[in-house]
Amino acid sequence: MPVPKHKRIHYKTCPLCDASSFKELRRADCSGHRNYHRDVSPQMIWMRCDSCAHVFTDGYFGARALAALFGQSYEDEAVGYDIERQRHAWAPVIEKVTELRANRLGRWLDVGFLNGSAIFTAAEWGYQASGIDLRPRAVQGLAAFGFEAQCVALTDYTPPAPFDVISLFDVIEHMPHPRVAVAHARTILADDGLLVISTPNMDSMVWTALDQTNTNPYWKEVEHYHCFGRRALLDLLERCGFSGIHYAVGRRFRAGMELIARKTA
Ligand SMILES: [Zn+2]
Repeated sequence: MPVPKHKRIHYKTCPLCDASSFKELRRADCSGHRNYHRDVSPQMIWMRCDSCAHVFTDGYFGARALAALFGQSYEDEAVGYDIERQRHAWAPVIEKVTELRANRLGRWLDVGFLNGSAIFTAAEWGYQASGIDLRPRAVQGLAAFGFEAQCVALTDYTPPAPFDVISLFDVIEHMPHPRVAVAHARTILADDGLLVISTPNMDSMVWTALDQTNTNPYWKEVEHYHCFGRRALLDLLERCGFSGIHYAVGRRFRAGMELIARKTA
């Protein structure tokens, strides 16, 4: 087997609880994933923490590996893709957040905004919506639609004023250090602000059924570093100064969940 050009940076401790003891859970071949790039290993090794049971890959990618993985572009990841159907897909989420905010709108930051439709739909409600993303092409695409967009990691982002809502739609599983990211989100969120997170739910029976038929796509997601269950995600949020206030089944991906949490004092 050829040696991959870009190796993963191995976790020395559990990315959620810092425990140094974790064991291999399973391996998967990610070479069939559309975002796979031959310069990274086709094998993914999933670990489980002995202390908190968090499930994560043995390591994450550095800047050069990410540049290779992000180097490919797909029509369905372009800002503005499928804009009419996407609007309908996002409306229930924006509506729920607005209800939980008792119709107080304000500033909404979407982290890792992909096709931009969550931002477009939030703007329709009257939010002052903006986004950050690590892909320069996405940032240019959102800016072309007249929205504020920056190419920066959440943990490096200091906005001029706090946000009222921060959303991480299908991005937390891609973040090398989710606890650091959630903690940073809290620092740039207003006092009663909301954090909205969607990610696959490994506690769901759909996930179990996918495992039973050996068709669970998530073990082979080359860009994912974590698998969360509802309880594990809630625990993370609570430890970072949030309280979970709403759970919903995610509508966009298999086994998906959506959690809304409020910043606590
Ligand atoms: Zn742990």
